[in-house]
Amino acid sequence: MKYQIITIFPEIFTSYFSHSIIARAQKNNLIDIKIHDLRKWATDKHKTVDDTPYGGGAGMILKVEPLYKALKELAPRKKKTRKIILTSAKGKTFNQTVAKSYSKNIKEMIIICGRYEGVDERIKEFIDEELSIGNYVLTGGEIPAMAIVDASTRLLPKVLGNKESIINESHNKVGTLEYPQFTKPQNFKTRKKILSVPDILLSGNHEEIKKWRQKHQSKQ
Ligand code: SAM
Repeated sequence: MKYQIITIFPEIFTSYFSHSIIARAQKNNLIDIKIHDLRKWATDKHKTVDDTPYGGGAGMILKVEPLYKALKELAPRKKKTRKIILTSAKGKTFNQTVAKSYSKNIKEMIIICGRYEGVDERIKEFIDEELSIGNYVLTGGEIPAMAIVDASTRLLPKVLGNKESIINESHNKVGTLEYPQFTKPQNFKTRKKILSVPDILLSGNHEEIKKWRQKHQSKQ
């Protein structure tokens, strides 16, 4: 999967994408991530990418021309296997089902990170999806872009060492969450009580453990 992210804050991504599973997936050539500074496509000497809203109102709006130029360069032709995504608090909710569908059917994502009060509405002529990561408003589209890249990458073949991780993970089946997990110590003592691991998980009886886990998978 190739990810191309358009942002006015490219350095935000460096740390997150250079750790753990996402770093390993890049190293193993399972994904390729390119971060593009939107200012590269600004047309004036001050590299302006935002302006005041028509009709008045608070804040600034990301201009359509630099974004259009960016898309013309990064996606000169339409491709069935590529999605151009605008991050937006108003968009369709990004969830595990959407992530699964991308990881199966898409080979490239171009993700536009909005900022300020948002993006000139005319950009919608040139995108495929407007995605929200939840019903709240963030300062910019960088965290949503990281969430989309992360959730979709985990579902790509060979990215996770153990396939079981995906099968039992929350939301793999719609409405099902992962069973409760415990690790050492067996008895965790606080000043008021001892919190113990359920006996069944210490029994070594894999059939019974499986049944217990199935019983305790919360349904949404
Ligand atoms: N004025 C906009 C509104 O009320 O919908 C919010 C703009 S927000 C401060 C700036 C940018 O952050 C948005 O253009 C979008 O790219 C991103 N953003 C904020 N919340 C988001 C969310 N829940 N999901 C995806 N993107 C979000």
